[in-house]
Amino acid sequence: MRMVDLIEKKRDGYELSCDEINYMIRNYTNGIIPDYQMSAMTMAIFFRGMTEKESTNLAIAMLNSGDQMDLSSISGVKVDKHSTGGVGDKTSLVLAPMVASLGINFAKMSGRGLGHTGGTLDKLESIPGFNINISDEAFLAQVQKIGLAIVGQTGNLTPADKKLYALRDVTATVNSIPLIASSIMSKKLASGANAICLDVKVGSGAFMKNIDEATKLAELMVKIGNNAGRKVTAILTDMDEPLGLAVGNQLEVIEAINTLKGNGPKDLTELCIEIGAYLVVDAQKADTFAEARALLKKQIENGEAFNKLCEMVKAQGGNVDYIRNPNLWQSAKEVIAIKSEKAGFVNYINALDIGVSSMLLGGGRETITDQIDPSVGIVLNKKIDDYVEKGEVLAYLHTNGKNTSIAINKVLKAYQIGNNLAHKKLILKVIR
Ligand code: URA
Repeated sequence: MRMVDLIEKKRDGYELSCDEINYMIRNYTNGIIPDYQMSAMTMAIFFRGMTEKESTNLAIAMLNSGDQMDLSSISGVKVDKHSTGGVGDKTSLVLAPMVASLGINFAKMSGRGLGHTGGTLDKLESIPGFNINISDEAFLAQVQKIGLAIVGQTGNLTPADKKLYALRDVTATVNSIPLIASSIMSKKLASGANAICLDVKVGSGAFMKNIDEATKLAELMVKIGNNAGRKVTAILTDMDEPLGLAVGNQLEVIEAINTLKGNGPKDLTELCIEIGAYLVVDAQKADTFAEARALLKKQIENGEAFNKLCEMVKAQGGNVDYIRNPNLWQSAKEVIAIKSEKAGFVNYINALDIGVSSMLLGGGRETITDQIDPSVGIVLNKKIDDYVEKGEVLAYLHTNGKNTSIAINKVLKAYQIGNNLAHKKLILKVIR
């Protein structure tokens, strides 16, 4: 078999066989197929697409490129969730303790942010002492003991995806449905959970800009997961404005803490309860979604969900004092109020621009080696459908001086103010 023939086949719109996909992934992972040939292939896939069979075979080939986490020593159903990437998305920090506090094992491997999207690992690392690099044995023991761990991906899980994702990031081929589906599902299958909920973001701050594309992606991921014997739910959720109010690592952890204490923004709380309800039903802790939602709300009210976060932070070496008393966090040097230039209803907040602003302030990376400043970011004061007076504060910028004026302009431009309500919905569709 020759890679050049496979590139030509895909370029001309033909279906690659399972053997051809296995050959390509095996030899790309071990360095025999060079990046330049794989770049040509990903661009051919970008334009020609892949059939469901090809996408499934690609996910399985990437899954088989490395180790798989064996969760069988942990009794009961093991659940996981994954977001396709958004702005202000601190869902895992709230959802995982909520669900785990009901006695459901939540074994989660998360990623870092890149570009305008945030990553759970970067957020967790803003908690002093928190360790995301624990061994497989320690990960399993922690889930066994407290039912919850959120860690970085271990070295040898889906190495093909690690290499391919980095290549796609610099060859403008991230935004391809079969490539995203196989990337996400290979990781989710490798991390061993039986029930998975996928949060497929749709809108300006997401990879999928419209509901048709997002539906295709969600259906494909659900099929790949089902073919591999896992229960998978995909929830399409709005990413035309950031989720919650806070964007920026430590600001988002503080918002997650407040949410677990029952004082979170409405959209974030609603999303965590919705995703959580599917996992609770799949873990057979409730018969109906209504019952599952009620159970999750109770875990916030009785403080159990918050206590579970504290347990996880302690187990992973973090300083729990910061969780119990968020005033301990050192805030950014300056907090600047960004005021509206006109009165009206907020019709739209460009999530991409807000994410990029946070990144420019130092809250995200432009390259994988950039250092993150945990204290910077943006806290929205107005969300879509809120009324704003001229001169009223739209958002607060938390800055240590890097790119401040560019970020102020971007945040101001991100807001569109009009005369009518937009009536946005958070949960757009559920595919199961
Ligand atoms: N998240 C992933 O893990 N992979 C993609 O390709 C896109 C988003």
